[in-house]
Amino acid sequence: MSLADLVPKEAAYNYAFLDEQSKREVRRATLKAVAIPGYQVPFGSRELPIARGWGTGGLQVTMSLIGPGDTVKVIDQGTDAGVNALNLRRLVERTTGLPTTDRTEDASVIQTRHRIPEQPLRADQVIVFQVPLPEPLRFIERDEAATRRMHAEADYARAWVALYEDIVHSGTITRAAGYPALVNGRHIFSPSPIPRWDLPKLHRAPYLSLFGAGREKRVYAVPPWTSVEPLAFEDYPFAVESMAGRVCERCGATGVYMDEFIEGEGPRRYRCNDTAYCDAMFDANEAGDTGRVAQLEAVAVAVAATHRRVQTLSAAGK
Ligand SMILES: [Zn+2]
Repeated sequence: MSLADLVPKEAAYNYAFLDEQSKREVRRATLKAVAIPGYQVPFGSRELPIARGWGTGGLQVTMSLIGPGDTVKVIDQGTDAGVNALNLRRLVERTTGLPTTDRTEDASVIQTRHRIPEQPLRADQVIVFQVPLPEPLRFIERDEAATRRMHAEADYARAWVALYEDIVHSGTITRAAGYPALVNGRHIFSPSPIPRWDLPKLHRAPYLSLFGAGREKRVYAVPPWTSVEPLAFEDYPFAVESMAGRVCERCGATGVYMDEFIEGEGPRRYRCNDTAYCDAMFDANEAGDTGRVAQLEAVAVAVAATHRRVQTLSAAGK
């Protein structure tokens, strides 16, 4: 007998790891979340072979959602190659046998941490966010019962005051990631720690966005075509990070979210944060495929259009 014989075979796991009863519970919570956009629905978060805080909420939503015919993409901070993304993807592959992909356009379900792909998603795609802190009011109120009541009564005065104080203190809104927004004109929600750059992509998006927080045991959703308005004042409208003048040193792209590198005294260097987009642009340039390059450049134009749409909305005090 060898040690390997003593290790249970992975086939002993249920399809998509979770038992059917657990998946049904997550699906029921998800359906309720879709019915009440932006509302945080409690669910019985299960143990997974991954530590809480490493994407277990998103993973439970993904595992409950996927089935034969799906193709899964997992990204971590814009990259498919992050350790966390690789491990989650491997778990999906091993327990479902489903294909996974790096290409945004080939995925039916995209699980993500901290980014929305640059490539605009279609109505037949679903994006699942890993959420560390689902409660947008936590930074102004520590008591869970109090924040639940504030949501129930749509009493968001203190959220507005906090935003106002931020402007008085710093002369600008300093919130960089996880910027709070009003969903469907009713609930303030946290879009998970995505950069401000990505928030306008959610406004009246054609696809379903699901948010899972494993440690905090909450699921919430933004259904297709739902309004997502970042909190802002008429004279301090919402603005995304400026990527003006930044060119990706690898693929030559502009107008997408860039990572910045500084080495010693040298000039600042930039690379696309979305590696799938960067790879596609790099390959298209290498192959001299001008049609594909134009297609990818149009992606940056589409992203800029989402920014303009939401910034106009915000400047109008809506
Ligand atoms: Zn690039």
